Amino acid sequence: MITEKIIPFEKKVWLSSPTMHGKELEYVTKAIDTNWVSTVGENIDEIERRIAEYVGCKYAVALSCGTASLHLAVKLAGERLYGMPKAGEGTLRGHRVFCADMTFDATVNPIAYENGEAVFIDTEYDTWNMDPNALEKAFEIYPDVRLVMLVHLYGTPAKIDEIRAICKKNGALIIEDAAESLGATYKGRQTGTFGDYNAISFNGNKIITGSAGGMFLTDSKADAEKVRKWSTQSREAAPWYQHEEIGYNYRMSNIVAGVVRGQIPYLAEHIAQKKAIYERYKAGFKDLPVQMNPYTPDSEPNFWLSCLLICPEAMCKQVRGDNDAAYIKESGKSCPTEILEALASCNAEGRPIWKPMHLQPIYRTNPFITVSGSGRAGSNAYIAGDKTADIGADIFSRGLCLPSDNKMTAAEQDAVIEIVKSCFA
Ligand SMILES: *Cc1c(COP(=O)(O)O)cnc(C)c1O
Repeated sequence: MITEKIIPFEKKVWLSSPTMHGKELEYVTKAIDTNWVSTVGENIDEIERRIAEYVGCKYAVALSCGTASLHLAVKLAGERLYGMPKAGEGTLRGHRVFCADMTFDATVNPIAYENGEAVFIDTEYDTWNMDPNALEKAFEIYPDVRLVMLVHLYGTPAKIDEIRAICKKNGALIIEDAAESLGATYKGRQTGTFGDYNAISFNGNKIITGSAGGMFLTDSKADAEKVRKWSTQSREAAPWYQHEEIGYNYRMSNIVAGVVRGQIPYLAEHIAQKKAIYERYKAGFKDLPVQMNPYTPDSEPNFWLSCLLICPEAMCKQVRGDNDAAYIKESGKSCPTEILEALASCNAEGRPIWKPMHLQPIYRTNPFITVSGSGRAGSNAYIAGDKTADIGADIFSRGLCLPSDNKMTAAEQDAVIEIVKSCFA
């Protein structure tokens, strides 16, 4: 095949790997030298102050990961909507939550942790996020729902105004999962500030990292205090360990915070590098039957991952089972499976689009709402080319994430572009 002519990269080209700058080690070393290695210390205070200032919210609470932030956000919303649960009951107690469908499962699992039922809302083609029209439809079908979990996939802001208007009309709260979109703006305002509760992540592959870590963002002092308390095992002010509520061990350590602290000054640089990667791909693919992951003029993404979507007429036949995939090569056509295999054979890392939640075995029986009607999640009713049926499945079938590492050189990226082109030969 043509890809055999391309010499594999000597050093692996990653999808998105951590980029350290040196400052991180200084803050970590200082934490160790001064023995502030636990969940209290200057690094934690400093990153909470700086992130709150950067995104433009009043309070940021540093936690062990983005998933923990989402979990406590769901808990806060559940208590506000349905009152305090009994121990072990879960704050959502069987209530439904509307949730973005094309996302990472860390968005959804916290709903299950609190015994809620996620109702998946289909995706739209303009930003690859929750479709406001499908959300509106969902409120017609389930008018009693009061909570919406919104995601900005790959760092591209969703149609926030439309979604907020629908939620307001229906009296629903919003949790904003901005784990992938730190630094992205919508109408000039930072993502992570639009929800009633907001979460970001410092996981290893995100735009900046603490090796791990996350934050809960809010303008509510009471909510910030509650999250801080819950995250440190819900200890009451007493001489002994006194507990009135279920607690969690979710607080960030001052060591991890040192890594985050060293990264914050480089957030703008990382975003600029990611944007340059996106633009270079866009120019490189201009003669191919593909498009890049889109965004609207309202928004400025952080360009965390560059993705491409193959035009329907340029797709060769591709079949995916639960754990594997196959395709039939056709001249002038390709598919994500072929491109991902070609990249891997050259020592470059791509990835399929995040498989929609309604197709996941664990969430297959949950309801799934598309603009064309309601359906059962996981039904394999999706027909290629039938765009209104299941947009998430369509993007999953035709799309892929490209190597988007900000340490990738222009020459390496040009080689990646050639690999992709060769698949359409
Ligand atoms: C990474 C991610 C999370 C979870 O963040 P962690 O810090 O890894 O727990 C949640 N939602 C989305 C969309 C993510 O990409």
